Amino acid sequence: MAIFSTEAIVLRTYPFGDTSRIVVLLTRDTGKIRVLAKGVRGPKSRIGSTLEPFSEIQAVYYHKSGRDLDLLKTADPIRLHPGFGSDVSRLSFGSAALELTDLSLTGEEAGPEFHALLADALNRMEGAPRDRVGIYFGAFELQLAALLGYQAEFATCRGCGAEPEGAVRFSAAQGALFCLPCAARAGAAEPVSREAADWLRFLNGESGSEPAIENGDRRALREAARLIQLFLAAHLHNFRGLRSLDVLKRLEAMGGKTT
Ligand SMILES: [Zn+2]
Repeated sequence: MAIFSTEAIVLRTYPFGDTSRIVVLLTRDTGKIRVLAKGVRGPKSRIGSTLEPFSEIQAVYYHKSGRDLDLLKTADPIRLHPGFGSDVSRLSFGSAALELTDLSLTGEEAGPEFHALLADALNRMEGAPRDRVGIYFGAFELQLAALLGYQAEFATCRGCGAEPEGAVRFSAAQGALFCLPCAARAGAAEPVSREAADWLRFLNGESGSEPAIENGDRRALREAARLIQLFLAAHLHNFRGLRSLDVLKRLEAMGGKTT
């Protein structure tokens, strides 16, 4: 039995037995792990309130080789991110970042870059003005995909290298844009508006100039967000959309300006 101490972010938790919880953690040093937190559901538990989604903690746990469930010894709070409770948009996008991290990591990835990326995204989303949270989330999705080995490229046509002007097409399988002549050969069928293509480049860090949102018209940003979801679905084998975003989608359908 080995003992580890590492920074970690709580991705989700679920009850175990009458008094305990299983906690899924993204650790800085040992990737994604599941730990058993004994006796934390009682009112007198000191660490129970620390083990909520979003919490960044210093976790000390025991690991026995051959077991995929570790035993949590202590969890000291570093940052608890209470700001995610402030509005539905922030809670939805923040929860979606945790959900996407959980479903896309198998636990084998031990690199600290995943922890650093999520911690940075949570800090940005928690402190951002409400209408910018979705922008940070879109950038996070593309950065996470890139860390997983799926680097999207939207600056130029993947087929001929030219900067596409006018109409372009999107290939979810390739995570790329194509000019019209190249699109047919590449099987890239998804139309993309020029404004959404600009958003894709900005969210992917390929353009420093952020597209304008005039008169609160966020259709192009939503179009880009939908294409990013198609890109993720094409590469993450267990990706079926993010349940955390369902509430926002319903509000959007009702005409609310939430994202
Ligand atoms: Zn081309």
